[in-house]
Amino acid sequence: MIFDPELATQAYMATLSGAARARSDAYFEGGYWLILWSALAAIVANLIILRTGMAAAISRWARRTSRLRWLRSFLFAVPYLMLATLITLPLDIWSRFVREHDYGLSNQDFGAWASEAALDIVISTILLSLLFIGIHAAIRRAPRSWWAIGTGLTAAGLTVMIMLAPLFIEPLFNKYTPLPASPVRDAVLAMARANGVPATNVYLVDASRQSKRISANVAGLGGTTRIALNDNLMRQPADEVRAVLGHEIGHYVLNHVVKLIVTLTVILAIGFFIASRVLPALLARFGARWGVTEVADPAILPVLLLVATVLGLLLTPLMNTLVRTNEIEADLYGLNAARAPDAFARTAIKLSQYRKIEPSPLEEAIFFDHPSGHTRVLTAMRWKAEHLGQPDVR
Ligand SMILES: [Zn+2]
Repeated sequence: MIFDPELATQAYMATLSGAARARSDAYFEGGYWLILWSALAAIVANLIILRTGMAAAISRWARRTSRLRWLRSFLFAVPYLMLATLITLPLDIWSRFVREHDYGLSNQDFGAWASEAALDIVISTILLSLLFIGIHAAIRRAPRSWWAIGTGLTAAGLTVMIMLAPLFIEPLFNKYTPLPASPVRDAVLAMARANGVPATNVYLVDASRQSKRISANVAGLGGTTRIALNDNLMRQPADEVRAVLGHEIGHYVLNHVVKLIVTLTVILAIGFFIASRVLPALLARFGARWGVTEVADPAILPVLLLVATVLGLLLTPLMNTLVRTNEIEADLYGLNAARAPDAFARTAIKLSQYRKIEPSPLEEAIFFDHPSGHTRVLTAMRWKAEHLGQPDVR
């Protein structure tokens, strides 16, 4: 009998049906709206802060408190970002806590979730405020060409953060340990070594503290690069763990982190350039009403973030497609490395419990940062069709 990849894919698709499929579709499609609601919430929060004069008030306080311009930028940014976070907090609690529980995806009670969310907010507020010191200084000195310096600073900050996150940020939220001794561990580390990934760079992460999802990731840069397999994944059959690790090794070997930073830098440059042209126009049109009339005023930060939010929303399909392209490459690398197309397909079905399994091609292009279950299973079945008959592929 001839093996037909399309028919084999349809057989896999049929394993997620009825209520289970309706549920994963609803969860994922709700996410489309969340992209819009989150952007609208950020826009409304910034407009409230500007229109009510709160931005101007915080700015007056920052300018009274210090004569140092760089410190004024920082002193404005911290309370402003806290305030903006507070305004959008109800939506964040609903989308990141209530909704995850409604769909049975979270293992955290509210206290544990809230303390992690608070830590997350503190870290991102400090980092963003530090970045604003540099960007605001560039804006004051070079009102037309600051976008280039802003791009450089942001890209450099991003690179340093990606490099240091496995050492200083991720351990604040989860425990990373070497894989415990088991036959799975031996198979996994052998595959890593065979693909040029040092065994010391493969870790186990206790992601079940937060979530029921199976996953793995590559993080870090240069010397800090590491692959982490989560404990939910490690409870799956050995061939599925190998299939996922093959995918992660693909990210590692194909240098996806570095490539993404380079691509992001180009996008940042375009975004900052647009912002540098829109900012003066917005200040000229609305500045008097907001109490923010000149770029030396640190209260331009909410105006900048308004622009960033709109650009971010418009760029969502492009960003998703850039990330998804890397994911497809990693899938193909993983199939070649693990040579377990059915294990990969079974994992794709498990992942489809919270990712719509058969979207339309346009829907996948716009909203998916990973290939859909259908795309992944079809890719695996095509691979299988071309390798059937080889001794290790059944
Ligand atoms: Zn991936």
